[in-house]
Amino acid sequence: MRVTRVLPLALPLALLALSTTLPAQRPDTDGRDATRAAQAASATVMRAHLEFLADDALEGRKPGTRGGELAALYIKAQFERLGLQPAGEDGTYYQKVPIITLTPTPSLAVGKPGDAAATLRYPADYVLWSMRDTTSVRLSGDLVFVGHGIVAPKWQWNDYEGVNAKGKVVVVLANDPGLRDSTIFRGKILTYYGRWTYKIEEARRQGAAGILLVHTTETATYPWTTVQSSWTGPQVRVEQPAASLLVAGWLEHEAAAKLFAASGHDFDSLAASAYRRGFTAVPLGARATAAVTSQVRRSETQNVLARLPGRGRLAEEAVLIGGHYDHFGIGAPVNGDSIYNGAEDNASGTAAVLAAAEAFVESGVRTRRSLVFIAFAAEEAGLLGSQAFVNRPTIPLKQIAAILNLDVMNLYGRTRDASALGNNQSTLGEAFTRAAAAEGLRVTVDEDALIRGGYFRSDHFPFARAGVPGTSIEGGDAFVGKPEGYGQQQRDEYVAKRYHQPSDQIQPWWSYDGGLQQLRVTMRMAVDVADAASTPTWSRGSEFREVGEARRR
Ligand SMILES: [Zn+2]
Repeated sequence: MRVTRVLPLALPLALLALSTTLPAQRPDTDGRDATRAAQAASATVMRAHLEFLADDALEGRKPGTRGGELAALYIKAQFERLGLQPAGEDGTYYQKVPIITLTPTPSLAVGKPGDAAATLRYPADYVLWSMRDTTSVRLSGDLVFVGHGIVAPKWQWNDYEGVNAKGKVVVVLANDPGLRDSTIFRGKILTYYGRWTYKIEEARRQGAAGILLVHTTETATYPWTTVQSSWTGPQVRVEQPAASLLVAGWLEHEAAAKLFAASGHDFDSLAASAYRRGFTAVPLGARATAAVTSQVRRSETQNVLARLPGRGRLAEEAVLIGGHYDHFGIGAPVNGDSIYNGAEDNASGTAAVLAAAEAFVESGVRTRRSLVFIAFAAEEAGLLGSQAFVNRPTIPLKQIAAILNLDVMNLYGRTRDASALGNNQSTLGEAFTRAAAAEGLRVTVDEDALIRGGYFRSDHFPFARAGVPGTSIEGGDAFVGKPEGYGQQQRDEYVAKRYHQPSDQIQPWWSYDGGLQQLRVTMRMAVDVADAASTPTWSRGSEFREVGEARRR
């Protein structure tokens, strides 16, 4: 009867009865619990949830809209029906995600002290936005070229060596030095040090007032027009608990070259030197004067989360199984359709999270660590729901063993393989390999995702950045009964014809058994991690190891 002691009184009697038949607190060393739980997963349940969430009636589940609210309410109702404990704020299933939207009108001028400053053209030469939650910011600061703007002790790399960046505007290259030299960093595989979000974080740690990233076609995986369209309109983010830089922005390559030339520097040769070890930062001898006025709008949405309590002394710890439930709502019509249903992205993942919750409850399997099912809000606006969780966690981050994320399920059929993002980042990769093997699947690596930095682009990532090991479990590539290349062809078609378009809606030809494989692997992994004697750790080579170690202290 030790087991029942950790159950909340509010749990339905049926569940209580089930749990009393559990074996004692034995970790699932033989995989029997994992098998029992995985076998309780139902493709029909997943399909039913998907069909509701992706229906036109949900109007694309945009945060703050009626459709978005309905989706959250539906998810909460499912958690309640299953008898799961609320794991949000104040004893509810919800956690607030405070959103701030700033629409910037910037100005930027650069010149040598004493000379007339040259005004740059917006948005032909630059884009710029405020990093503060206020209507106006202005600054004037010396420009310093800090190469890639990276401080990575692990790779003995410090672009800020000897630089006092306080109050200055740092100019940085996109990407990381491995891009040109396969012997440093991870070669062409993008590390987190190459992401623009990292550059901003580091500039802030260095005390800079502003940052300008230089866009070149070599260093960015997207064209300047994408920079313009992404950073000129409304900028949506989570309200910031802490002060940040004043401004951040991008400079177009040619504009940067002119700016460097005006102060007697050659951009391309300075940039080339920044790929070499021992690079030292270069003060440009010019000053930037910037101002941004922003229209500010505040809104709110919510994550929805519930707990299946663990048993025994590890029950305070948790393994998260999550996926984002939001999408783009109603927008510009394409072929007469204005509802962005987000069926694959990510009604499918949300449906899988709900199906996993149901399977765990139905199977009666209870892990040592608690399982927490979480539907993230506002992922499409920039991982806002998961970032909000990390900013104000309802479960202390050091008690979270791992997060397993599902963003787009495989709806194209059964596969012989499986893949997960960031396999080599932490020991979660080993748990994934074991889980896949138990489902008869071999592990394949999505090289393409590694180069594009796929690991940094879904809801497990704000957790990783805060030191919590995480991954997104993806579908396989080798489809049963299909010719080679079928998986790639399906993915290409999805990206070209449906991704982030109104046509991402339910397709009559979908098959749910591939998604079921993906879900079962995820559930097995959850049991593996939740029952293990120790929690997953970051690999020696991971850029998140240091913050991960710090989190455990
Ligand atoms: Zn998504």
